[in-house]
Amino acid sequence: MSEDRKLAFETLQIHAGAEPDPATGARQVPIYQTTAYVFRDADHAAKLFNLQEVGYIYSRLTNPTVSALANRVCALEGGAGAICCSSGHAAQIMALFPLMGPGLNIIASTRLYGGTMTQFSQTIKRFGWSAKFVDFDDLAALEAAVDSNTRAIFCESIANPGGYITDLDAVAKVADKVGLPLIVDNTSATPYLCRPIEHGATLVVHSATKYLTGNGTVTGGVVVDSGKFDWSKSGKFPSLSEPEPAYHGLAFHPALGAMAFTFHSIAVGLRDLGMTMNPQGAHYTLMGIETLSLRMDRHVENARKVAEWLEKDPRIDYVTYAGLPSSPYNHRVARICPKGAGALFTFAVKGGYDACVKLIDNVKLFSHVANLGDTRSLIIHSASTTHRQLTEEQQIKSGAAPNVVRVSIGIEHADDIIADLDQALAKATA
Ligand SMILES: *Cc1c(COP(=O)(O)O)cnc(C)c1O
Repeated sequence: MSEDRKLAFETLQIHAGAEPDPATGARQVPIYQTTAYVFRDADHAAKLFNLQEVGYIYSRLTNPTVSALANRVCALEGGAGAICCSSGHAAQIMALFPLMGPGLNIIASTRLYGGTMTQFSQTIKRFGWSAKFVDFDDLAALEAAVDSNTRAIFCESIANPGGYITDLDAVAKVADKVGLPLIVDNTSATPYLCRPIEHGATLVVHSATKYLTGNGTVTGGVVVDSGKFDWSKSGKFPSLSEPEPAYHGLAFHPALGAMAFTFHSIAVGLRDLGMTMNPQGAHYTLMGIETLSLRMDRHVENARKVAEWLEKDPRIDYVTYAGLPSSPYNHRVARICPKGAGALFTFAVKGGYDACVKLIDNVKLFSHVANLGDTRSLIIHSASTTHRQLTEEQQIKSGAAPNVVRVSIGIEHADDIIADLDQALAKATA
C-alpha cells in the first residue's frame, strides 16, 4: 500500500496498531501475558530507561497487546499518541495528572456521566484539585469561570445521560483564547461518530468499557493526545515543560515535543499511579473495535427508530434524543457527529418516578444495568441509581430528573426493542 494513501476508518479499525507478530507471524494480535521483557544487554536497558529507545521494560508501563490497542484508538481519533488505562475513570485521572497540582482546578460541563460528576466534585479534592461546573452552552460563563489556577476544560462530546451534544468548536475556541487544553470524553460517541481533535480538542478520553469493546465484557480506558498543545508556552504546565524531578530531571516537552504528554503518562503516570490496562482486557477491546463502525451504524439506526416511536406515544412526556428534529441540539448533529447522534438517550414517562420504576421492573428484553454501549439494549432509572448521590438540582441539570429513564439502544432488531418497551409501558402506566 502506498504510504500517502489515507486509510478509511473501517480499514483502520481492523489494521491500525497491529501487524503480523514479528516472532511467530500470528495474524491476530497475541495476548502478551508477561510482566517483564528481557533486555538485550546492559546498554539496551539503559537506553530504554533513558527513553532514548522505545521498547518494553515492565507491563505496568507498556505491553505489546496494550500498545496495539493504544495505537489503534490513536489512529481512529487522529492523535499523536495514546495510553490505555484500567478504566474510563482511570483515564480521566491520567489525563489530568500531568496538568494538575494542589490548588489547581478544572472547568467541567454540568452535563457529565454521573460517576464523573462524583469523581470531579468529591474525590479529586483529596489531591487538592477541584472542579467548577458550568453550562457549556453559556460560553461567556465558561470563559468567566477560568481563573489563574485553571488548568483544563472538560466535557463530553455526546453527553451522558443523553440528548445533549456539546458545541466542541465553540468550546475549543474559548479554550484556545484562554490558553488551556480541552479534554473531551468521547465515550458515548466513539471516534466513528465524532472526532473531537478535528474540533480542537487537546486530549480525548474514553471508557473502553462501553462501545469500543461493545459487548459488556471489560473495563478499560484510553487517553489520546492530539500532540497539538504547546505545553511550554504559558509556564502553567511545569511537569511537561520543566525538568521533571520524578523522571531524573527530563524536560518532557522540550525533549519529546508532540509525544511529551504520552511519554510522561507512561514514564511517570502509569509507573507511579499504576492504573494499567491488562493485556487480556486489551485483547477483548481490540476484537470489539474491529466491528465498531458496523455496530455504531446499527446502534444509531435503532436509536432513531425507538426515539421516533416513543415521541409519538401518548404515555411519554418527551424524548431527549439529539437525532430527533424536536431536539434543541439536532442542528449540531451534522457538524459534531455527522454519522449520527449515538444510541443513548432519555425519555420522561407520564406518571413520574413511580411509573419509571414500574417500567424498569417490567422490561424483558432490556437489561436493568448500570452500563451503556452494549450490543444488548439496556435501561436504567438514573435518579434512583447512577445519579443517586447527586442533589435533585444536579440530577435535573445533568439530564437525570426523577421522571426520566435512560436507555442505551442495542443492535437487536428494532421491532423487538420497541415491542418490549410497549408492553412494559402498558404495565407502568396502567
Ligand atoms: C462509563 C463512563 C465513564 C467511566 O468509565 P469506566 O470504564 O466505567 O470507569 C466515563 N465517562 C463516560 C461518558 C462513561 O459512559
